[in-house]
Amino acid sequence: MSAKAPALADFRRIVVKVGSSLLVDAKAGRLKEAWLASLADDIARLHGGKRDIIVVSSGAIALGRSVLKLPPGTLKLEDSQAAAAVGQIALARTWSEVLGRHGITASQILVTLDDTEERRRYLNARSTIDKLLEWRSVPVINENDTVATTEIRYGDNDRLAARVATMASADLLVLLSDVDGLYDAPPHLDAKAKHIALVPRITAEIEAMAGDAASDHARGGMRTKIEAGKIATTAGTHMVIASGHIDNPLKAIEAGARVTWFLTPGNPVTSRKKWIAGSLEPKGTLTIDAGAAAALRRGKSLLPAGVIRVDGDFGRGDAVVIRGPDGAEIGRGLVAYDAEDAARIVRKSSGDIVLILGIEGRAEMVHRDDMVLAGA
Ligand code: GLU
Repeated sequence: MSAKAPALADFRRIVVKVGSSLLVDAKAGRLKEAWLASLADDIARLHGGKRDIIVVSSGAIALGRSVLKLPPGTLKLEDSQAAAAVGQIALARTWSEVLGRHGITASQILVTLDDTEERRRYLNARSTIDKLLEWRSVPVINENDTVATTEIRYGDNDRLAARVATMASADLLVLLSDVDGLYDAPPHLDAKAKHIALVPRITAEIEAMAGDAASDHARGGMRTKIEAGKIATTAGTHMVIASGHIDNPLKAIEAGARVTWFLTPGNPVTSRKKWIAGSLEPKGTLTIDAGAAAALRRGKSLLPAGVIRVDGDFGRGDAVVIRGPDGAEIGRGLVAYDAEDAARIVRKSSGDIVLILGIEGRAEMVHRDDMVLAGA
């Protein structure tokens, strides 16, 4: 791998994370609409170039507290939850307006930690995002701060954005922040701090540059950004940290602004497949007929019609082994139905699923993106 900074145009699915301080003018108590409009111009241009864009937008709590004129200082949990309820509605409306001016339909997804960490909910959230992208919407995602309590919250949108990026198999995560990247020492304390333009791999030395946990009080400081980098790059997503303190911040990245790139050795699909192939314990077995086995080898998904037998006690989203009629392992994958439902739709055409199960399930028993063939 050559350690060369990529260009935004190289990517097909980009998650853009926007920090609170960029979005909210705390003194004026409102959103920085002109800046947001300039970011929306950049997003629209990338979107028009056939790229999928997902926004992870902070700012609900900051905006809510400004609107409500809450005193400065740390908010109690219930105060920040309630402030987020006020801020989020305004945030969503503004995103919808600024993207709408470009003819782009915005959509809102509010997630909690469980939605990205529990596999079934993860798959659910992922299908929703996939569907929205297929419809060419730009999902605007934030943590559901109103219901998230201390134990079950991300608290920072850097890691949330990284999980969203891996969930959506994005190939790039852009963290727009109030700093223009990583320095070898804290730049506000050390005038000689050197900017790092490219991080081919996150080493212990790089982690040390982010400072230790004890010195990092600020939510969304460099430490959570490095954590985000670890999540993203191990899952096959590149990451770039760039300053959002200028108008058209994405255009600026393309024009060569000072940023820090974190490169991934993998790509989103192969890394996810590695995860499926290697790290999961299969919970059951699907035995398929020869026709389906041949279709899988041609790169197709596994449809219920090709399944002849279901064994094991698995839930939707669990890993299963796929075996041919002779019992030989053909591959592994994440199954879209739990064992009971899977057994009921064996040999049935995808169109019958709704009649049998009474719900509009997925047409595939195992989607090809969720499958690895043995020896592949
Ligand atoms: N979810 C929080 C909010 O919208 C922001 C978290 C962060 O700034 O990283 O207010």
